[in-house]
Amino acid sequence: MQLQHLLGIEFLNPQQINEILDLADHYANKNRTASHNSNALAGCTQVNMFFENSTRTQASFEIAGKRLGASVMNMPMEASSIKKGETLVDTALTLNAMHPDLLVVRHPHSGAVDLLAQKVNCAVVNAGDGRHEHPTQALLDALTIRRSKGRLHRLNIAICGDIAHSRVARSNIILLGKMENRIRLIGPVTLMPSGISEFGAEVYHDMEEGLKDVDVVMMLRLQRERMDGSFIPSEREYYHRYGLDAGKLSYAKPDAIVMHPGPMNRGIEIDGDIADDLSRSVIQEQVEMGVAVRMAIMDILMRNRMQNNKAMNK
Ligand code: ASP
Repeated sequence: MQLQHLLGIEFLNPQQINEILDLADHYANKNRTASHNSNALAGCTQVNMFFENSTRTQASFEIAGKRLGASVMNMPMEASSIKKGETLVDTALTLNAMHPDLLVVRHPHSGAVDLLAQKVNCAVVNAGDGRHEHPTQALLDALTIRRSKGRLHRLNIAICGDIAHSRVARSNIILLGKMENRIRLIGPVTLMPSGISEFGAEVYHDMEEGLKDVDVVMMLRLQRERMDGSFIPSEREYYHRYGLDAGKLSYAKPDAIVMHPGPMNRGIEIDGDIADDLSRSVIQEQVEMGVAVRMAIMDILMRNRMQNNKAMNK
């Protein structure tokens, strides 16, 4: 697979998605054994640059890199030169001069990670840029669905809540669409993105109607940090209409799984009991698959990089 960076799901084809998921599946099984470490990334330097807060994604990339034997450095962006007025590109060029092999970048601006990838010589992984894409989240969601449902095509999948501000929704819509699933977007009119018809999904404003007979229910957090002004009347009203509780979930198929990318706001978009019900919720498995998917991506990118380096030195 000739992948140099992972900037978005939009650049992957179904065959590449399947190849990444197959390798991630292998790592997921290996991670459950005592011998989960390898040296696939031995000698590689991985730098995590998170310009936006993150708990699980940054930890997940760090564990994934260390498990593969990379030297992992977390740049403390709070204390970085960006705060002293340096531009993103200057920071990237400074880092580039230190010859890292892999940059994992999260940034509040859509497109910032693409820009950075054009300026550096190493592989770049998008760990979430604004409301644009979060490709490793969509891949880990896909692996979780594939393992739970035994397939990743011809499923009815509902994505619910704040679609407009969510990069998770965007990457998932692209990936699940490429794999030929039927996607329903459910949420208030105010939280639907403009140009929604281009997504090729069905749109619902009523949870009970939209959840009818779906195989997968994916809930989203309200992205308050990306909103200017208020998009909902109140959290109480939002929970009443769009929060996933047992009553609303009963409209989905009896074996439908419940997903959430985290961090979760219990009592706003999801009822705590549903989130904790292991017969329905695969939320912890999503976190587990996150490490495996990131191991697979970094393994593929570093193998390609080594091959390219060898070809250049010939
Ligand atoms: N962790 C996900 C993201 O970074 C989802 C969220 O924050 O709601 O986009």
